[in-house]
Amino acid sequence: MHIKKLVLDNFKSFGRPTEIPFYEDFTTVSGPNGSGKSNIIDSVLFALGLARTRGIRAEKLTDLIYNPGHADADEESSGAREASVEVILDNSDGVLDRAQVVNAAGSENVDDVDEITIKRRVKETDDNYYSYYYLNGRSVNLSDIQDLLAQAGVTPEGYNVVMQGDVTEIINMTPYERRQIIDEIAGVAEFDAKKEDALEE
Ligand code: ATP
Ligand code: MG
Repeated sequence: MHIKKLVLDNFKSFGRPTEIPFYEDFTTVSGPNGSGKSNIIDSVLFALGLARTRGIRAEKLTDLIYNPGHADADEESSGAREASVEVILDNSDGVLDRAQVVNAAGSENVDDVDEITIKRRVKETDDNYYSYYYLNGRSVNLSDIQDLLAQAGVTPEGYNVVMQGDVTEIINMTPYERRQIIDEIAGVAEFDAKKEDALEE
């Protein structure tokens, strides 16, 4: 399973719909400082529900919407107070359980799910904001997306994404904290958490 393509619309510095292709093995993104490389990573974390706003470098969710007033922003935008990110996954190896996708997305054909589209949208109104998730076009809850991605070991607590500064942070940790990371990566932490939940009940 791998990311095949991202579609960013009105997200951070991407004022118009932008498609970003990813290759199966290795993809690098290069560009000058401030050109939006990290914003691309932020978009993945946002769409897959993997980070709180701090993790995607925003005070609040609505800061993720393209703001033409931003110093470096010069693209034309639709002006809508809405942003969306689509992550298109290649699941032809079936790492994500097809039946579960079919169930959550409500599609009819199990063969339809070699390609999975996860989309998140944030919309701002005069006095509020709303966030929506979609799986293959159908509105779902974050937990549906999380349950699905967990099958591929992609979780909010996981270390699928190594952010700027993470390595230094790990070096500066206490041995106990470092051990917690190893538990997380080895998949032990998940069972510790489940055990704790069970004991509480
Ligand atoms: P570096 O090489 O320094 O790490 P980078 O390519 O990772 O740079 P980013 O951090 O992805 O750059 O992009 C930063 C740019 O995104 C800034 O110029 C900032 O103005 C712009 N930006 C962030 N949020 C928004 C927004 N909501 N609307 C418009 N532009 C935004
Ligand atoms: Mg950066």
